[in-house]
Order: sequence, then C-alpha cells, then structure tokens
Amino acid sequence: MDTAENNSRKVVGRFAPSPSGRMHLGNIYASLVAWLSARSAGGLMVLRIEDLDPRTQSGPWTELLIRDLDWLGLTWDDGPFYQHDRIERYEEAARSLVERGLTYPCFCTRAELHAASAPHASDGTPVYVGTCRNLSPDEVARRSAERSPATRLMVPAASDPAGVITFTDRVFGQQRQELARDCGDFLIRRSDGVFAYQLSVVVDDAEMGVNEIVRGCDLLASTPRQIYLQRLLGLPEPAYAHVPLLMAPDGRRLSKRDRDLDMEGLRERFRTPERLLGWLAGITGIAPDAEPRTAEELARIFSWDSIRAHRGNIAIDLA
Ligand code: GLU
Repeated sequence: MDTAENNSRKVVGRFAPSPSGRMHLGNIYASLVAWLSARSAGGLMVLRIEDLDPRTQSGPWTELLIRDLDWLGLTWDDGPFYQHDRIERYEEAARSLVERGLTYPCFCTRAELHAASAPHASDGTPVYVGTCRNLSPDEVARRSAERSPATRLMVPAASDPAGVITFTDRVFGQQRQELARDCGDFLIRRSDGVFAYQLSVVVDDAEMGVNEIVRGCDLLASTPRQIYLQRLLGLPEPAYAHVPLLMAPDGRRLSKRDRDLDMEGLRERFRTPERLLGWLAGITGIAPDAEPRTAEELARIFSWDSIRAHRGNIAIDLA
C-alpha cells in the first residue's frame, strides 16, 4: 500500500476553539475526547483558531488557549491555523455558491428574525421563513443602498429528498434533519461581511484533511447544514462524534463566565495537568476512577463505549 493511501486512512482530528474567553471545563472535555480518539487510533491532530469574528482577534484568549492546551499535554501536529488568515478560501467557496444561483441577499435584522413567530431550531436559531427569498432585483438594489445584506443559502424544498440529511453520530447514533422544516435557508455570510461558521468550518476541515470531528453536542443540530454544504461544494464528509455537555451544579450549561470552572480557576485548584485530567476523566467515565493521569495514559484506556454510556448531560460538582 502506498503512503498516500496509508495517510488517507489515518484519523485526523482537530481542536477548533473560538478565542472568545478562557477555556472552561466543557471545552477541555471536548478537546480531551477529540485528542484521545485520534491518538488512541494512532492519528493526528490539527489546531485551528476560529477567530473570524473581529471581536475575538484582539483579546488575550488565543495565546492563553494555546498555552492551556499545551499545559494539558493535548498536543497537535499541524497548525495553529488562523481563520482570519484564510478569508480568501471562504470567499472562493461562497462565490461558487453565489454563481450557481444557490444564494440570495438577506436584509432581515436580528431583531426581525427573532420577532417572527417562526419555530426555532434545536440550537435556538429561528427557522428562516424566507422573507428575502423572492425580492425583485429592484428591491435588492434599493435596499442594498441603505445597508449591506447578509448572504443566505437556499435549502431544497420540503418535498426534495436532497434536503433530508441523515448521518450517524458516533455517540448519539442515527440523526435526521429536514433542512426546509428544521432550519430553513441559512447564512453563509453575515451582513458585516464575516463568513458564517457553517461555511468556514467545512472549508477548513476539508482543506486541513480532518476526517473526524469531535465536539460538544450543542453543535449536533449544525451538522446537517455542514453536511449539506460539503455536498454542494464537493467536499468529503468526515465522521462525527458529539460529546455530552457538562453542566454547572445548578443545571446550567457551563459558560466562559463560570470562573471556578475555567482554566484559571481549575489550574489553581488542581495544580497539575495530571490531577485535572484524572479528575475530569473520572467524573465523565473515561477512566474508572479519578486518579491523576496524563493524557497519554488516558489514551491507553480510552474507549468510545465509555463516552456513549454517559449520553445525558454531565453535572459537575466541584465540592
Ligand atoms: N469554534 C467552535 C467553538 O469554539 C467549535 C466549532 C466546531 O467544533 O466545529 O465553539
């Protein structure tokens, strides 16, 4: 077998953090599982900083999260790649969709979208009802003079099987979404010109050779949109695994505001990466106990069955 074929079979996973705050325990958990899955299969990891939003480009977070991954021993083989360096790639992909007549300019404001009495997708975004889908060229010109539009991708009509996306998630099993009913036409570029996450993520994962995506299950509902884009752009479809969310003791989703569960608080509390990783592995079922362990040691005992056994949200109790 030649090397190219060998390489093409290697698992390539990724870390794709957004530098909008310090890593918290939920980010650490998803990163750890992504790393364990790739490493336990002899695979590689790519690090990509998802900093397309200008608000994330100037803060201290990128440097801190690289340092935190490093401290944890979650190593990578390629990158860091920065999305802000890759705008022309997203432009190219968006242009091909626009040129094929698959998109339209959308002038709806965020307030209008949320005010519409449309059903909401499971990730909380309103299902787009198609307000701007049939604007006349005159209307588009008139409105464009007032404000820049966003760019929306049309999804197939409800009756078209191309809009029914199914895939098997490694943790949550068989998934099915009808794009027209469950999300509607979706953004590939915001009105401020920033490319949407859905577009940039598929362009990058394909170009970086990522064939296994492990991330928090808050992104499970985004995956069908990404698969639809991969199909339109002729990109390979990676394997997906969405891991349970970690919840604060009061049942809330952990956020970057939970100081005692962010890296700063956790490093103060646990002092060493082995103690932090061992405890995290213990409470999430990756390891049979909470003994201190390195990432390498965890890779030797990692199994997807242990993740599947905890498919519900996992409550964190620091006491
Ligand atoms: N950048 C996203 C985040 O930090 C993750 C994107 C992904 O894993 O696809 O939430």
